[in-house]
Amino acid sequence: MNRNEMLRQLHEVEEWDIVIIGGGATGLGTAVDAASRGYRTLLLEQHDFAKGTSSRSTKLVHGGVRYLAQGNIKLVRESLKERGLLLKNAPHVCSSLSFVLPCYDLWQKIYYGIGLKLYDLMSGKLSLGKTKIISSKKAKTLLPTINAAKLSGAIVYQDGQFDDARLALNLAQTVAEHGGVVLNYCKLISLIKTDKKITGVKLFDEIDGKTYEVKCKVVINATGVFTDEVLKMDDGAAKNIILPSQGIHLVFDKKYFPGNAAMMIPKTSDGRVLFAVPWHDKVIVGTTDTEIKMLSLEPKPLEEEIEFILQHMNKYLQVDVHRDNVLSTYVGLRPLVIKNKSQKPSMMSRSHTFIVSNSGLVTITGGKWTSYRKMGADAVNNAIFSAKLEKKTCVTEDLKIHGWKNDTDKNDVLHIYGSDAPDIKNLCNENASWDEPIHPAFPNIEAEIIWAVRNEMAMTVEDVLARRTRILFLDAKTAIESAPQVAKLMATEMNKDNNWQQQQINAFNELGKQYLLS
Ligand SMILES: Cc1cc2nc3c(=O)[nH]c(=O)nc-3n(C[C@H](O)[C@H](O)[C@H](O)COP(=O)(O)OP(=O)(O)OC[C@H]3O[C@@H](n4cnc5c(N)ncnc54)[C@H](O)[C@@H]3O)c2cc1C
Repeated sequence: MNRNEMLRQLHEVEEWDIVIIGGGATGLGTAVDAASRGYRTLLLEQHDFAKGTSSRSTKLVHGGVRYLAQGNIKLVRESLKERGLLLKNAPHVCSSLSFVLPCYDLWQKIYYGIGLKLYDLMSGKLSLGKTKIISSKKAKTLLPTINAAKLSGAIVYQDGQFDDARLALNLAQTVAEHGGVVLNYCKLISLIKTDKKITGVKLFDEIDGKTYEVKCKVVINATGVFTDEVLKMDDGAAKNIILPSQGIHLVFDKKYFPGNAAMMIPKTSDGRVLFAVPWHDKVIVGTTDTEIKMLSLEPKPLEEEIEFILQHMNKYLQVDVHRDNVLSTYVGLRPLVIKNKSQKPSMMSRSHTFIVSNSGLVTITGGKWTSYRKMGADAVNNAIFSAKLEKKTCVTEDLKIHGWKNDTDKNDVLHIYGSDAPDIKNLCNENASWDEPIHPAFPNIEAEIIWAVRNEMAMTVEDVLARRTRILFLDAKTAIESAPQVAKLMATEMNKDNNWQQQQINAFNELGKQYLLS
């Protein structure tokens, strides 16, 4: 995947079948669907792929145990099917994980035990393993730091886990493999209409500072929490349909939560669900559900959200954690669709919604990462209908995602790259020093930086430290310390001067500070 090559194709194609706005899970899933059906597909992302909510999830590929408790059987069944397909089609970035749900009385064991057995049964052939009721002694071996006071046992169930930003990049690569064009740092600035129907888009390329116009048959709006902005570009009088809800995560050293299983607290004191999930040798704890008014690509955690997570960690685990122990904090915005204004965000539906406007604009929003493939298929089906495109069948149920490899060795530092790993290793033949770690505290090697620039359209130090590797999300201080070395290697590879390097380091330092709790 090379950005100059993508730009060249942007100018060569006279008219695109489908232009997709938004390079998160929804837009990329839609682009994979469209390109693999054989439509001429262009995707535009205003910042980097997965810069928005799609790099800020709890990293679960799940049916949503919580939605089962809310009685949303259809959503759970659909998500469990998608979970199974994802683990089959992208096994290098997704895997099965045991979740332990601690129980404090017999009633909880019966209630959650039945619910989670049902959860497993609903996944049918795509089950990841049986739900079990275990003793408190066994629970302590799976969760060594659990606060065992009054613990009467636990339920263990299986769900999926993934690396969200890496999957997003793999989806972009899959689009490219099927002849589609994906462009990061390209913002939609207006919709072009002929006789009130959308016939093209105007975009701004932040890298070359130029504005372009392209023709297309249909535009799909997959801009997450920014959905209303695009709806208003189409119709200034359009009503808002999105209620953004913020969720934060705190990341800690694994010593506070050793072991390989995750913990799920189904009902905190104020009725929320809380997860502690081992991820890339750290532990992620979250999340929250806070209605917010201001949209941002870098939302900030609220004090009460931080306190909520710290308090619950100290309550459910035998640990004494404070803000100083937080390695990184990251915040995402859920694009919840308003159906009933009086509902609390945590009770609002996670099903996806689509709208076809009079101008032909197709909007797809809501949903969750796990259901990205189904959302993409639905969006393309609507686009076919809206623009009267020649009908072509969806092929993504069996489509292998770029990097597919089902026998990755988890001890290999490059295993997350799947089938690309040998090519990254080979870069070290070009320069032996690229085999060195970017930072002594992390296993990521310098060759990953070169790979990210050459093959994954990384344009900035942030792209490398936040989404090509996940160092910023895992340990913000280490990420800040790594920035000068990343900038230096990128500058050489991209032919940039010292000025560029310094600007990149300064910009990343500013960003990195936001992931640290002062
Ligand atoms: C805290 C939290 C935890 C979650 N955990 C999970 C989980 O564990 N599992 C799960 O399945 N789901 C989870 N979700 C849900 C999931 O992350 C989201 O549903 C999904 O990422 C939304 O993807 P999206 O593509 O719709 O939005 P986004 O990822 O936000 O993508 C939209 C993109 O559109 C771009 N854009 C906006 N305007 C323009 C424009 N004018 N031109 C070009 N580009 C534009 C933005 O820059 C952005 O990158 C979680 C959500 C949150 C908030």
